[in-house]
Amino acid sequence: MVGQLLCAGWLPLAWHDGAMTRWNRALVTGASSGIGKAIAEQLAADGTRLVVVARDRDRLEALASSLDVDVEVLVADLGDGDALAVVEDRLADDDEPIDLLVNNAGFGLTGPFHELDVDRESAVVAVNITALHRLTHAAAGAMIERGGGGGILNVSSIAAFAPTPMSATYAATKAFVSSFSEALHAELADHHIHVTALCPGLTRTEFQDRAEFDASGIPDMLWQTAGEVAAAGLRGVDQNRSSVVPGAMNKVGAGVLNAIPAALRRVIVPRFAQ
Ligand code: NAP
Repeated sequence: MVGQLLCAGWLPLAWHDGAMTRWNRALVTGASSGIGKAIAEQLAADGTRLVVVARDRDRLEALASSLDVDVEVLVADLGDGDALAVVEDRLADDDEPIDLLVNNAGFGLTGPFHELDVDRESAVVAVNITALHRLTHAAAGAMIERGGGGGILNVSSIAAFAPTPMSATYAATKAFVSSFSEALHAELADHHIHVTALCPGLTRTEFQDRAEFDASGIPDMLWQTAGEVAAAGLRGVDQNRSSVVPGAMNKVGAGVLNAIPAALRRVIVPRFAQ
């Protein structure tokens, strides 16, 4: 009986194999590589149908053909307003409704702010903040209208816990993501919409190469795999946690950054950032 009610969409989560929860259809941004790809694969393994979004069509199509569920490929540059509007429309579409939005696409640049290309820095703001903000608005509005609950998993970063010199714009965008997600976690609870910020630390993906950040000297023990991070995020949104920091080392780091006075943080963080 409970399972039937859940499957009918009365609550956000559908019963699956009597043990875990699963979503009916998820839209995952940045699914062409790294954490987003791992999230898409794990959702598909659990039977969730997918809409996968990124710029690289070939990679999205390769992903779609490797999965055993129905996958829609939606090629979009989320830094472009017209392309973003198409993704917003898909989230609002009631024909094949989305009950889980994963705002994962994102990137950062490293270096002195004044030396970085300002258009690329603006693109970081457009993808990490504006796209996530607009897609969350489209998804939440549609989920409330349908009355069946849902989930929104926003990929933030451990960088959200401290302003970070040499990565100032990126860390500020992730502070936005965490603050925004925590507020919506409370605001949307009455609508049975789970909102979770996932705050990974160092994760082996293409992120560091794209950021032109030489991470070769960082010890192995500080890294996680995309699969580990994806699993923690999906567990967190299932369990309706406001935020998730995956990995023991990251939990310690985030705990310390939260506990120490801001004046001390301003001395310590720049040393690590260098
Ligand atoms: P990644 O392997 O570089 O993947 C980034 C994804 O975002 C790709 O699928 C990329 O697809 C997509 N993307 C980037 N710009 C886009 C745009 N303009 N329009 C549409 N899609 C775009 O890096 P990742 O580590 O998996 O990053 C995923 C998320 O994790 C990001 O939000 C990142 O900030 C966060 N994160 C990563 C780490 C880490 O150490 N890896 C740590 C903390 C947080 P296309 O290139 O095909 O468009």
